[in-house]
Amino acid sequence: MKICRFNDNRLGLVEADEVLDVSEALGVLPALRYPYPVCDQLIAHLPELRARIATLAPTAMRLPLAQVRLLAPVANPGKIIAAPVNYVNHLKEVLADPNLHHDNQINHIERAGLFLKAGSSLAGAADGVTLVLPDRRTDHEVELVAVIGRAARNVKAADALAYVAGYTIGLDITIRGPEERSLRKSPDSYTVLGPWLTTADEINDPGNLAVELLINGQTRQKTTTSELILGVEALIEFASRFYTLHPGDLIFTGTPEGVSPIHAGDMMIASIEGLGDLQVQIMPALAL
Ligand code: MN
Repeated sequence: MKICRFNDNRLGLVEADEVLDVSEALGVLPALRYPYPVCDQLIAHLPELRARIATLAPTAMRLPLAQVRLLAPVANPGKIIAAPVNYVNHLKEVLADPNLHHDNQINHIERAGLFLKAGSSLAGAADGVTLVLPDRRTDHEVELVAVIGRAARNVKAADALAYVAGYTIGLDITIRGPEERSLRKSPDSYTVLGPWLTTADEINDPGNLAVELLINGQTRQKTTTSELILGVEALIEFASRFYTLHPGDLIFTGTPEGVSPIHAGDMMIASIEGLGDLQVQIMPALAL
């Protein structure tokens, strides 16, 4: 099932080039009182939600996919976890280029560990990326994203995929420079997610998906997830040793080689096999 959020927080089922408006299914989500649980309620209740979507789909209103505004498919992730350098060829390109490493300590992922991006940086395809420091080099990073489906703590890699609700495409937009990653990668709109959530049952092997990113029609990044140093299973094992993973937590798995600067007016298209095309416009910086 391909589930999207669109327009003014509508819920959609994506079928080919159409979106079926199944917003009524949101009625299965519980009414909550403060203090709210630290997880995304849509993902936490995905099984009930899917059953309701299936019931509503045959009579749902259909809209052309090209005419809806796609929002981030997970609205309230408790954590946005990301792998810093998780493809061998990207590690080599970062170590070789002072404009990428800025004398920051660059380590193999098993030494460097993971980092977190701010929840407020989350954006959907229709939001675009608004550059905050246009005179600083700012790069695209296309990444496979695993969406956690149920609470996970000290999970073994062999069991890890049972904790995944689905997959989507992420853009980990990055200002190059000496500051901490969590600062350079967390301005508003620097974490793009979409175009929709593809549920895990549709992806046989997250470790063998073609990945590509184009800027203005030119290929910049192209690989498969078989080149990941730590795959989705190993990342869940690693992350769940440090913190409990909750439904809706996102794991950005890292970017392959080919990172390059983006500029206002550019159109990015990020594609991952089975997950769709994420089309994102780069907007000019806001006037101060
Ligand atoms: Mn990244």
